[in-house]
Amino acid sequence: MKTQVGIIGGGPSGLLLSQLLHLQGIDNVVLEKHSREYVLGRIRAGVLEHGFAKLMREAQVADRMDREGEIHDGFYIAHDGVKDRVDLKGLTGGNSVVVYGQTEVTRDLYAGRDKLGGIVIHNAEDVQPHDLESDRPWLTYRQGDEIVRIDCDYVIGCDGFHGVSRKSIPKDRITEFERVYPFGWLGVLSRTKPVSPELIYARHERGFALCSLRSQVLSRYYVQVPLTDSVEDWSDDRFWDELRSRLPAEVAGALVTGESIEKSIAPLRSFVAEPMRYGNLFLAGDAAHIVPPTGARGLNSAASDIYYLYHALVDHWPRRLLAQGARPRLERPALLVVDDLAAAPFPRRQRLRPPHPGHRSGLPVLVAVGAQVAGGELRGPAFLGPCAVDWRRQATCRLSPGPRLKSTEPHWTRTFRAAT
Ligand SMILES: Cc1cc2nc3c(=O)[nH]c(=O)nc-3n(C[C@H](O)[C@H](O)[C@H](O)COP(=O)(O)OP(=O)(O)OC[C@H]3O[C@@H](n4cnc5c(N)ncnc54)[C@H](O)[C@@H]3O)c2cc1C
Repeated sequence: MKTQVGIIGGGPSGLLLSQLLHLQGIDNVVLEKHSREYVLGRIRAGVLEHGFAKLMREAQVADRMDREGEIHDGFYIAHDGVKDRVDLKGLTGGNSVVVYGQTEVTRDLYAGRDKLGGIVIHNAEDVQPHDLESDRPWLTYRQGDEIVRIDCDYVIGCDGFHGVSRKSIPKDRITEFERVYPFGWLGVLSRTKPVSPELIYARHERGFALCSLRSQVLSRYYVQVPLTDSVEDWSDDRFWDELRSRLPAEVAGALVTGESIEKSIAPLRSFVAEPMRYGNLFLAGDAAHIVPPTGARGLNSAASDIYYLYHALVDHWPRRLLAQGARPRLERPALLVVDDLAAAPFPRRQRLRPPHPGHRSGLPVLVAVGAQVAGGELRGPAFLGPCAVDWRRQATCRLSPGPRLKSTEPHWTRTFRAAT
């Protein structure tokens, strides 16, 4: 198999990058070690910063998040029996956070990938990257008895802290900084009304506690526990008693308890590896850095990595296309009908406009030259070909230096039909 970008890991980082690249016509394959059910069974982040939410919208997978996610303009810090509010919106010039579970984010990303026919290979065992320093890196994975090879231009390691990507970098080419804390977070998910409409981070001599939520009927609570504890040590009753003891009386009195529907202990660590690049391997998300969940930042930092990687890859490819005469795959085809491409810069055309909002300068658009569109068909002596446009400067360049393609050529005809 051959692809442009091989992504290791089908968590939020890998799926988000895959979706964004796909929308820009960049081929990619995601290799995920576990089944989809397993990935969706992990209960983790719940607080999305505005930058993450924006990226979900750009990836066209934000409808449910915008509908069901809760906008929070602030949170509380509880200490010494009182709670103080931090006005996020006021202090950041208008930014809020969206409370929407990571599980739901992942579910929406999977739905987005399925809708576009994205390739996510689950249960890919023993994924191994090869020749990362060459410009033709490749991946292998095992499926049953078969070893499958994927050739790619770039490998992106989105496989979390325990993944294989970072471990593939020679020790003398990467520096790791780590602090492991002597405690973990015991988390409980319960189908109960949250104790507070905004998150409460509680400091207490018995240890930290957090009152979080996923919706108005789904609460997520945490208490700090020694690393030596196991989930079996904590009955639901013991958990609720401990949580109450760490909250101001007024909050503890209002706490609605119920049966836990998920209970787990997350060890806490701070970790950074740098640089995040080795040859043609790039690390993103938890593969490169971990922050303790106290700051609700891990997923948001991952999204920031994806933002920069995605833009760098998109900026990179038109030049490669030009060099190779390759045909971009336009999954969300962008069509411009112009009078005469040869007579640059389009003397008789109207002002060029991006075919859809967010279409970045330099990305391929499909240009129908001298064409008339009638009844959804291209009529007249037209040629079709890929072209890059700088929307701001209204400048264009041909991406395919080879002979122009006739409108009857099957690939472009199909793409043209999809675009109109
Ligand atoms: C209790 C808890 C609460 C948190 N709360 C927040 C919060 O409120 N806000 C926030 O921003 N962050 C939070 N985080 C952090 C957040 O969950 C992570 O930062 C986020 O999951 C990182 O996403 P990722 O895709 O980079 O890595 P992961 O989610 O770890 O995904 C990596 C994927 O790679 C796969 N994989 C691993 N090894 C291989 C391999 N060898 N081959 C193929 N696939 C492989 C894994 O199965 C997994 O699906 C929290 C974390 C925890 C534990």
